[in-house]
Amino acid sequence: MEKRDYYEVLGVAKNATDDEIKKAYRKKAIQYHPDKNPGDKEAEEKFKEAAEAYDVLSDPQKRQRYDQFGHAGVGGAAGGAGGFGGFGGGFSMEDIFEQFGDVFGGHFGGFGSSSRRSVNKGTNLRVKVRLTLEEISTGVEKKLKLKRQVPCSHCNGTGAESSSDMQTCSTCHGTGRVVRTVSSLFGQMQTQTTCPACGGEGKTITKKCSQCNGEGTVTAEEVVTVKIPAGVQQGMQLSMSGKGNAARRGGVNGDLYILIEEEKHPELIRDEDDLIYKLLLPMPTAVLGGSVEIPTINGKVKINIEAGTQPGKVLRLRGKGLPRLNAYGTGDLLVYVGVFMPSKLTKDEKAVIEKLKDSGSFNPTQSDKEAYFR
Ligand SMILES: [Zn+2]
Ligand SMILES: [Zn+2]
Repeated sequence: MEKRDYYEVLGVAKNATDDEIKKAYRKKAIQYHPDKNPGDKEAEEKFKEAAEAYDVLSDPQKRQRYDQFGHAGVGGAAGGAGGFGGFGGGFSMEDIFEQFGDVFGGHFGGFGSSSRRSVNKGTNLRVKVRLTLEEISTGVEKKLKLKRQVPCSHCNGTGAESSSDMQTCSTCHGTGRVVRTVSSLFGQMQTQTTCPACGGEGKTITKKCSQCNGEGTVTAEEVVTVKIPAGVQQGMQLSMSGKGNAARRGGVNGDLYILIEEEKHPELIRDEDDLIYKLLLPMPTAVLGGSVEIPTINGKVKINIEAGTQPGKVLRLRGKGLPRLNAYGTGDLLVYVGVFMPSKLTKDEKAVIEKLKDSGSFNPTQSDKEAYFR
């Protein structure tokens, strides 16, 4: 399914202020709130969609990247295309309540609280990946060696030395939550918060696991394979959900964020989807024309230089640029042509040029001048 434009999702203009965005989000959040639409899958999707839009548009950096690169710029690229499905986008209900608690004034009593304890989430991991332009042009699979927290095998991630070393929390009686009254957007309401005694786990440990010292996690080195789609750019961030650190004593894994860094190409310069090559021609070649070899992202090619090629001319090699991220088509290779005028000549060379000085074809007419500076 095609992702909707975030501004459209919230129903605001592209130049909406932070306040307008917040107000629009509140409206949508109330309209599609799960408490008002129990069991309504469509409302839930809309609720999530609005939260995702708000997450991006309420953050100046994310908003700028979104304005510049669209969904791809904020890691929420449309699923399906080019093996990109595993990345980004999508919020769970837990994420929404965790991140935007300020808008709602805490968790709602009633919403999922009877069936679920607060979910522990592991921390996110961030890695940088350096890519050559060649890798960017084709897309690439990278194996990343990471140190991450994984569940301790000795205690199965519980943090207790044995199952008899774990007891039900006496403060919350195992629910992991305690009830408080707070004021919020919706008026005074009962809200549930995490039990301070057990940290929401519903259990207390009497003897800590000897291997992980009660943490439930240990550090391990792992290799994660990441499929990077063709056409990514410097500064873009991909995300793989669940590939971050394991949560302390059970829960969901954090996410892995992969920051793209672009290596400088020795000869080609990137301009979005286009590539630029600066070609400096010897003066005789510019005058007489001929065939010259230039580099492209797929190796060298020969191009034809017309007789009488002026400096400043730009040759366009269609489709020799970079593929567009999550779209059809490929950019072009632009060849910026310069002509080299030697400043040091041998006696013989000087004699040849001297002969041409007064020759008619070497002296521009008024129309030559107009054509050149057009
Ligand atoms: Zn352990
Ligand atoms: Zn408790």
